[in-house]
Amino acid sequence: MNNGGILVAGAGGFIGGWMVRSLLSQGAKNVIAVDIKDKCDWYQVFDDVDNRVLDLKQSNNCKKVMQGVDIVYNLAADMGGMGFIENNKALCMLSVLINTNLLNEAKENMVEKYFFASSACVYNQSMQSNPRNLGLKEQDAYPADPEDGYGWEKLFSERMCNHFYEDFGIQVRIGRFHNVYGPHGTFEGGREKAPAAICRKVAEAKLSGNHEIEIWGDGEQTRSFTYIDDTIEGTGLLMNSHYPGPLNIGSSEEVSVNELVDLVEDIAGLKLQRKYLLNAPKGVRGRNSDNSLIKEILDWEPGIALREGLSRTYDWIFRELSIR
Ligand code: NAD
Repeated sequence: MNNGGILVAGAGGFIGGWMVRSLLSQGAKNVIAVDIKDKCDWYQVFDDVDNRVLDLKQSNNCKKVMQGVDIVYNLAADMGGMGFIENNKALCMLSVLINTNLLNEAKENMVEKYFFASSACVYNQSMQSNPRNLGLKEQDAYPADPEDGYGWEKLFSERMCNHFYEDFGIQVRIGRFHNVYGPHGTFEGGREKAPAAICRKVAEAKLSGNHEIEIWGDGEQTRSFTYIDDTIEGTGLLMNSHYPGPLNIGSSEEVSVNELVDLVEDIAGLKLQRKYLLNAPKGVRGRNSDNSLIKEILDWEPGIALREGLSRTYDWIFRELSIR
C-alpha cells in the first residue's frame, strides 16, 4: 500500500464511507477523508483518518486537501435517486466544480492516480427505451444524449478526465457505477435510490402492520443493481489496472422494479398491496450493464447476487428503523 496521502472526496457519503473502510483494511496509513456534510451526518467515520469538513466546489479547499496526496478517489457529488436528480438538475451540474478543481490540483501536484465516479446515467437515453435491455456497452454513451443535468455533468467530467490524461499525463481511472446499494447509505429523505427506498417501505410496512406499498411508475422499468462490496472491489481493481477509459462497474443481473419488490417482500416474509404512482419520476425504461469490457480488462465482474445483497441491505435498514 502506498505511503503517500490518499484523498477520499465524499467520504461522508455511502460509497466514500465504504471506500475509507476498505483502504484502512488494506493497511492504508495516510487517508484524508473530506465531505461537505457535518461529521455527525457521515455514514461511517473512522478515528485513524484525517477527517475534514470542506466544500470541494471551492478551489482553495481542493488546494488545501491535495497537499502530500498521491491517490485521489473523487466520490463527491450532489446527487440522489431519480426523485432528486429529475428535480435538481442545476445542483447536480454544479458538481462539475468539484471534479474540475480536484483535477486541476491533481495536475499541479502530479498525483499518481485519480479516480472519478461516473454513472450509468451517461448512456444515450434512446438506447434505454425497452425494458429488456441487453446491456449498455461503454461506447453507447455516444452520440451523447445522457440523463439531463446529472448525466451531462458526469459525461463532461469523464471527458475532462480523459483530456487531463491525454494532455497532462494524469493517470485517470473512470468507473461508470450502475445503481449501487448496501448498508450505510441513504434510505430516506428524498435522495434514496430504488433498492433502499423499497427496503425501507417494506420494513416500515412490517413494523407498522400497514401492508401497502407505493411504487413509482408501473414497476415494469428495469435496472441492474450492484452491491457495495462489488463496487469497492471493482474500483480497487480498476485503480490497479492501466486502463484510463470509462469502464462499467455494474451488475448485469437485470430486474424490473416489481421483481425487486417481490424479492424484498420474500426476504421480509410478507406480501403488500401495491399502489402504482404513474406520474412519479421513473427514469429510463430499461438499463443494464454490458460487462464484456470489464471482463476483458480486469478479468472480473460483479458477482454478488441481488437477493444476497438485498437481504443484507434490508436487515440493516430494518434495524435502523427498529431502534428509533
Ligand atoms: P452520496 O450522496 O452518499 O455521497 C456523496 C457525498 O459527496 C455526500 O456525502 C456529499 O455530502 C458529498 N458532497 C457533495 N458535495 C460536496 C462538496 N461540494 N464538497 C465535499 N463533499 C461533497 O452518494 P454515493 O452513492 O456515495 O455516490 C458516490 C459517487 O458515486 C458520486 O459521484 C455519485 O454520483 C457516484 N454514483 C453513485 C451511484 C449510486 O448508485 N450510489 C451510481 C452512479 C454513480
